[in-house]
Amino acid sequence: MARYTGPVCKLCRREGQKLFLKGERCFSPKCAFERRSYPPGMHGPQARFRRRESDYGLQLREKQKAKRIYGVLERQFRRYFREAQRSKGLTGETLLILLERRLDNVIYRLGLASSRAQARQLVRHGHFEVNGRKTNIPSFLVKEGDVIRVRDRSRRTTYFKEIMERLGERPVPEWLSFDPEALTARVVALPTRDQIDVSLNEQLIVEYYSR
Ligand code: SF4
Repeated sequence: MARYTGPVCKLCRREGQKLFLKGERCFSPKCAFERRSYPPGMHGPQARFRRRESDYGLQLREKQKAKRIYGVLERQFRRYFREAQRSKGLTGETLLILLERRLDNVIYRLGLASSRAQARQLVRHGHFEVNGRKTNIPSFLVKEGDVIRVRDRSRRTTYFKEIMERLGERPVPEWLSFDPEALTARVVALPTRDQIDVSLNEQLIVEYYSR
């Protein structure tokens, strides 16, 4: 599946908030949003003083923000939305739960990668197995009871040796249980909205697609 390959920090500046797309850099003084907290482009600095956005503008921005946080392009994002619409429950919440269940997001949440983009690359390179089977599809949706594990071959790499020393710096969400010694995690239950730590107003996304 295609992915965004353009400049990343511009996305945070466009959305007017830090989206934490670059791992450790986001917490350092090098963060572009800290240095230039205005939209990209020639008129960016003046854009800070523009009038309030329309309802449509707000809905669009929220949708774009969600896509950028989870690293999903429009076509796939729309597919998630349709699936959420078909499911029981609140569409906005179901949409976020679907995004949260992506394997690359789970790897990021476990602290095995510093950003979702890095997690995606690790998954693509075949470092993980789900229920004993090698899984290299970042969009793979985990379900309750799934066991995610770093493969034996990968454990011996410098990357995972180093990451093991840093595990625990970020809290693991309640819906996942993680054994850092065994580099193995289990999906205890599917996440609920209050366990999803992203500042998004999913209702605006639903309104965007319901126009
Ligand atoms: Fe966004 Fe991180 Fe870049 Fe800062 S460093 S602008 S938070 S992606």
